[in-house]
Amino acid sequence: MFRLARVALVVVLSLAFVWVGLCSGRPAFGEAKLPPEDQPPATLPPHPTSTAAPTATATPARLPASARVPILMYHYISEPPPGADRYRIDLSVAPQDFEQQLQYLAANGYTTISLYDLYAHLKLGRSLPPKPIVLTFDDGYRDHYEHAFPLLQKYGMRGTFFITTDFINFGNPNYLTWEMVKEMSAAGMDIESHARTHRDLRNRDFQFLVWEILGPIEQITAHTGKRPRFFCYPSGRYDDAVIRMLRSVQTWAAVTTEHGSVHTLANGMTWRRIRVHGRASLERFAATVRSAGGD
Ligand SMILES: [Zn+2]
Repeated sequence: MFRLARVALVVVLSLAFVWVGLCSGRPAFGEAKLPPEDQPPATLPPHPTSTAAPTATATPARLPASARVPILMYHYISEPPPGADRYRIDLSVAPQDFEQQLQYLAANGYTTISLYDLYAHLKLGRSLPPKPIVLTFDDGYRDHYEHAFPLLQKYGMRGTFFITTDFINFGNPNYLTWEMVKEMSAAGMDIESHARTHRDLRNRDFQFLVWEILGPIEQITAHTGKRPRFFCYPSGRYDDAVIRMLRSVQTWAAVTTEHGSVHTLANGMTWRRIRVHGRASLERFAATVRSAGGD
């Protein structure tokens, strides 16, 4: 009963917080509240030194108009169960195939970066390594901890894990636990939001969107100590109200299931990804990554 009351209190406070934020036209999450490590340092590209007399007008830092970076989309990193339908098979990359893919990326000069790196590149002009690539994992399956996480660590790579928090809250054994999430986050993996329940977010009222979008941000922050800034639409579905809510809680960018690899700040709420199909040959994987990267 006490727990229920506490949950209700949190929800009421959350709603009030967002409502105040929206009404005042200011972000619900004030920038000032964030710990400094959550902010991309406002370092700008170094100014060329010159002995010439300074001109009256300062030259603004040159920002890239767009960035071509493949954001790979994975789901299960495990063998599909016996009798799996074609959808489950397509969503499942076997651990040995996944390891071959990581080996391919390492051997061919790719560097895994985070969505924070990509955003800082577009927003602040911070440079990216050659052949940058983002690896994302949707839904928070247990096999992300059992297979993806150790293999990423083995190759010194970084992954972005979009978790659906109620799958964890209710102790579903097919999904991660908060302890696993905490360990992965502490080891340098990015834990970002894939909503609370994975339901379709379209045509919903304000309270529903607060519950689905603000709640996971608070929970991930509480468990990892890092405030998530990116969002993955459940089943790739969204509408204008969803985007408005994401912006109101200071989400920096969101990813869809649409195919593409050219990202801008203007299309930040609909960044596209590259699906990795289960049972795809290494040759097919390599060709997909090469074309997405513009090679
Ligand atoms: Zn999903």
